[in-house]
Amino acid sequence: MKEFDYIIIGGGCAGLSLAYELETHNKLKNKTLAIIEPRLEYKRDKTWSFWKTTSHNFEDCVKKSWDNFSINIPNKTKFLECNKLPYQSIDSGLFYKKINTILKQNPNIKFYKNINEVSLNNSLVFNSVPSIESNENQLWQHFKGIEIETTKDVFDEKIMNLMDFDCQQYESVHFFYTLPFSKNKAMVETTWLSKMNNDLEVDYDQQLKNYIENHLNIKNYKINYKENGAIPLFYPSNINGEKKINIGTAGHMTRLSTGYTFLNIQEHSRFIRENIDNIDKIRRYEIKKKYQFLDKIFLRVLNNHANQMPNIFFKMFDNSPETVIKFLSNKSNIFQDLLIILKTAKKWLFIKALLK
Ligand SMILES: Cc1cc2nc3c(=O)[nH]c(=O)nc-3n(C[C@H](O)[C@H](O)[C@H](O)COP(=O)(O)OP(=O)(O)OC[C@H]3O[C@@H](n4cnc5c(N)ncnc54)[C@H](O)[C@@H]3O)c2cc1C
Repeated sequence: MKEFDYIIIGGGCAGLSLAYELETHNKLKNKTLAIIEPRLEYKRDKTWSFWKTTSHNFEDCVKKSWDNFSINIPNKTKFLECNKLPYQSIDSGLFYKKINTILKQNPNIKFYKNINEVSLNNSLVFNSVPSIESNENQLWQHFKGIEIETTKDVFDEKIMNLMDFDCQQYESVHFFYTLPFSKNKAMVETTWLSKMNNDLEVDYDQQLKNYIENHLNIKNYKINYKENGAIPLFYPSNINGEKKINIGTAGHMTRLSTGYTFLNIQEHSRFIRENIDNIDKIRRYEIKKKYQFLDKIFLRVLNNHANQMPNIFFKMFDNSPETVIKFLSNKSNIFQDLLIILKTAKKWLFIKALLK
């Protein structure tokens, strides 16, 4: 069976980001790489959004960038600015196309559908397939989004709605968000943070229809695109080995309080590329321990006091948007962390969760 210097298992966001980073920095000139990916074709299947707190390789795949955003709870709205750290949405279709076009030009890179087609014996393996033992009792961010096109110009494309909690919660945490790509096109998503144990929570199509027609007051529209999925708000049980490094969701690149993963994947890819020659010998890259710790407390509060979460998220934005954005994107300093903790409503809930 054919052997390779590097094997990437899973040609999704993390696998392709890493391959692109290696290829565009000439790390695959004298090395061979196999990418194992079972999907038959690549097409747009996700919209990756994040605050641009670091540079990344995919500016040309950005569908839209916003300098303003809003957040709502019933009867209250905050309008906020983020021009220093804009919010960006990446079209996965453009991302897959850009990367695959480049990778296919290098004869040292081969694509396979199944891991059994290659020998793992003497390779450095980067694995992006998460190992999830049981869904029970675990929190997920699960959602469905549709991109709609309206007959009239109804959206203010300059401002995106990050979270609208003015909706049924059903003892979970539920919000909608709206990303207006233009005056007549927007992505509208229904999002739940819960254990996925309630049928009411997966009636996504009806939720979206009601929200668009009765809340956004849009009656005439067509659906151009749909996406749905679930992000584990816990770490999959993949274990790094001497010759195996987990990446992406499997490599614990998700911020558990938010589900944001995309930019962490990009930073991890950069780290691997910079250290590729001795990557199996150095300390593994991870999201800073302080965020892992704070997210754990945050999720404990969410688990036990879901009904408080809309207010907690809303109140968090009493801080300057820059402080909150840096905190949510793992870029805050200790000062900013303290501000978030001190200004967030219901401090005692966090203290109780910390003591548990
Ligand atoms: C619908 C959706 C929207 C999201 N939106 C955002 C967002 O807005 N912002 C953000 O920061 N994060 C977001 N995330 C979270 C995260 O960024 C994505 O899940 C991201 O795709 C994770 O990258 P990954 O490479 O770990 O996983 P994936 O992109 O899922 O890649 C894993 C790959 O492994 C392949 N695979 C599966 N089984 C095997 C196997 N046995 N052998 C080989 N390959 C296999 C799959 O086909 C897939 O291509 C979103 C997640 C989902 C599901």
